[in-house]
Amino acid sequence: MVSLIYHPRYNVTAFGLERLHPFDSRKYQRIQSVLIERGLRRKSDFVRPSPVRRSDLLKVHSPDYLRSLESSDLLASILEVPIVRRLPSWLIDWRVLMPMRFASGGTILACRLALERGLAINLGGGYHHAARDWGGGFCVYADIPLAATILHEEGLVRKVLVVDLDAHQGNGTAAVIRDWPWASILDLYEEDLFPSRKEPEDYPLPVPAGLTGVEYLEIVDAVLPEALDTFRPDLLIYNAGSDPFVNDPLARLRLTRNDLAERDLLVASLARERSIPVAMVLSGGYSSESWRIHADAIEGLLTRFDRD
Ligand SMILES: [Zn+2]
Repeated sequence: MVSLIYHPRYNVTAFGLERLHPFDSRKYQRIQSVLIERGLRRKSDFVRPSPVRRSDLLKVHSPDYLRSLESSDLLASILEVPIVRRLPSWLIDWRVLMPMRFASGGTILACRLALERGLAINLGGGYHHAARDWGGGFCVYADIPLAATILHEEGLVRKVLVVDLDAHQGNGTAAVIRDWPWASILDLYEEDLFPSRKEPEDYPLPVPAGLTGVEYLEIVDAVLPEALDTFRPDLLIYNAGSDPFVNDPLARLRLTRNDLAERDLLVASLARERSIPVAMVLSGGYSSESWRIHADAIEGLLTRFDRD
């Protein structure tokens, strides 16, 4: 049975931030509610992570960077929310950063459970614009490289492939894992979006605005099998951003809800056919339908993989 990881503390509800697009406070909770309403899971089936500890964060972030997060000015620029500048840092830590540490803990747990169950989904995480000494685009902690290196250090995995299908380049993830020969990234992103300076990657797949779902899925289907067979990872961390959606305000790709569900099923199927465990994280998605897109895609994954 597929593991689902979630904690009520994922949801940012503070100072009206939840009404700003990056912090749809109801997104994660709504996904959980829909999966329960549809009879796919009971509330008690969701596994609750602990927040990531500072000692773990230091495996990928510098002490200076973690210290700099105590500055409201820096956080306001990472989170792109000017009002944060006027708030005391302890309050931001408790109401904004702590939810992100819970969700980062969820990514680590998803990777552990993926090794046991084959497929595990964290209903959050995927902060792929955060690197060792910098953050950006609402991303503070580099949860994907962190989870990868923890499992690698413990000897649980030898090689990790990150598949990043969020509409934006996973520049933070790419920058952290560049020096790790045991980790690699395949990244399909819209070329004209944030970040303006792209990071070098092993399998970069820049695509133009306006790409349709059919074209998008053809690319994934053509490239991912070869990457899996060449790199032969023993864990795939899938950054499943929903912002390639046609109505997403921050991107201009043209995937429908069905295309996105098909995409997630395709990635998971290609990996599972090769017995590669998959840990999926949700990452970006800024339309009002983002929660429904993820809920539908997760329903497709549970229907297909729960019996495995
Ligand atoms: Zn994105």
